[in-house]
Amino acid sequence: MRVGFGYDVHAFAMDRPLFIGGVQIPFEKGLLGHSDADVLLHAICDALLGGAALGDIGLHFPDTDPHLRGISSLVLLERTAEIVRRSGFRIHNIDATLVLQKPKLAPYIRQMVLRISKVTGLPETRISVKATTTERLGFTGREEGVAAYAVVLLEENGDAKGGEARKE
Ligand code: MG
Repeated sequence: MRVGFGYDVHAFAMDRPLFIGGVQIPFEKGLLGHSDADVLLHAICDALLGGAALGDIGLHFPDTDPHLRGISSLVLLERTAEIVRRSGFRIHNIDATLVLQKPKLAPYIRQMVLRISKVTGLPETRISVKATTTERLGFTGREEGVAAYAVVLLEENGDAKGGEARKE
């Protein structure tokens, strides 16, 4: 078994759609980034790559790549899960926590889990998404941005090839 950990932050900006967990959420601000800036999916990608010791999301999907501009992070997560599987790992479960003051995400959590399940091939019972505020403290409390943490458990197949950062 291997544990993987991921963390990501994106800043809010006006006139951007808000995507979290692959779901578009109605809000006056969106997150700033080269892709759709889906902070939750980026944290999960980094956790998956981290558990396999395969580098990070920036290595596999550089923000200098014009093909990745505005891309749905569901595509990045789908490709990441594939990279990790091809390297000889089975994804056991995903647990993630979003940190933000607003908007309230409770009505969207189930949809997020379903989308993550679809692109990772993991049953929804093995995917957990939670959200918390910081009681108005810090950058998330001031509604300047959103942070996300994710942990995953990977099982090595007999022929796991992780351990070194390799580019797609
Ligand atoms: Mg990111």
